[in-house]
Amino acid sequence: MKLKPKITAIILAAGRGKRAGGKIPKQWQKLHRRPVITWSIDRFINHTKISQVVVVYHPDDIHQLNVIPKNVLCVIGGEDRGESVRRGLHALKNEAPDYVMIHDAARPCLSEALLDRCILSTLTHRASAPAIGITETLWRGQKTVQEVLDRTGVLRAQTPQCFDYQLIVSAHQKFVGDATDDVSVVRAEGHRVAIIPGCYDNIKITESSDFKLAEHILRGATKMRIGNGFDVHKFGPGNCVTLCGVSISHGSTLIGHSDADVGMHAITDAIYGALAKGDIGQHFPDSDPQWKGADSSIFLKHAVNLAHEFGYNIENIDCTIICEFPKISPHTNAMRQALADIMQLDLDRISVKATTSEQLGFTGRGEGIAATASAALVLT
Ligand code: MG
Repeated sequence: MKLKPKITAIILAAGRGKRAGGKIPKQWQKLHRRPVITWSIDRFINHTKISQVVVVYHPDDIHQLNVIPKNVLCVIGGEDRGESVRRGLHALKNEAPDYVMIHDAARPCLSEALLDRCILSTLTHRASAPAIGITETLWRGQKTVQEVLDRTGVLRAQTPQCFDYQLIVSAHQKFVGDATDDVSVVRAEGHRVAIIPGCYDNIKITESSDFKLAEHILRGATKMRIGNGFDVHKFGPGNCVTLCGVSISHGSTLIGHSDADVGMHAITDAIYGALAKGDIGQHFPDSDPQWKGADSSIFLKHAVNLAHEFGYNIENIDCTIICEFPKISPHTNAMRQALADIMQLDLDRISVKATTSEQLGFTGRGEGIAATASAALVLT
């Protein structure tokens, strides 16, 4: 074996990927500000052991190639996946590499560590590919479950799939039929393919919702986010106030466009803040009459759903209500329960407490109620 074997990456980008939606095929769509394909190109180019990168593209996408770095060889793909691979391999024949890594452009989140494992294994086994286990129970069925399948030894195949160059060229020349990957092609020739531990982050963008997940992974997957919220509402004529979803009899009410639940507003803003997604006023403008007198649980539910949409669970909430009257402490447990029900959280994740401001300031003078809240969100 040479001291430094020549390794080339072939990135397949000739598919149409209609399930992901969008005006252009998924591999050319933006993902965290850059086209999907450029993430894997960079990963291969920046790896010290990989000397060349080839992109196989669909002729309809020729105008997308301006995002491809100049040192990447672009090759027109074929009618189907197999033909595209053969064309990519053929383009290398004059200065043939020792090994090729065939990768799907729709997997932008591959890591350097995964490439290290792939290279190490392929130098030993001549054919190897990453895969991950299945943790879910597998069913067969349509509207009802017809069978629970045995998942022993069942793996989910990933890319890059890595081969000795001559071995994969020869296997593709002899292969007849359709194959969904290159492992099937070399196995049809009787070659053994070593399994490399894959990576859960190495997802394949298939549906439009996968873009969000991929973006989280590429952003470095911030595990925890913190937000804070602050709100004030003033007193006006009335006979009760609503605080954290609980109605409390009082000699006045809180004035606001919605139900003026100052505690719930602070919590809602804390969640928006943790997500860096604005505040209640942006999501539910008080210029919009439909939110007049609105139950603030609508806002809180929206913030919680937004957190889930971005892959976060709410770890805990801490809210402090600041006022001289009404007395809050007899109601804090009911408030926690009301918030737990709205947010679908366990009670021990929610804290509501109260303080006076020692008769100082607007709260001290009894002109209104202030509330502050913190929210911690954790990536699921
Ligand atoms: Mg408010």
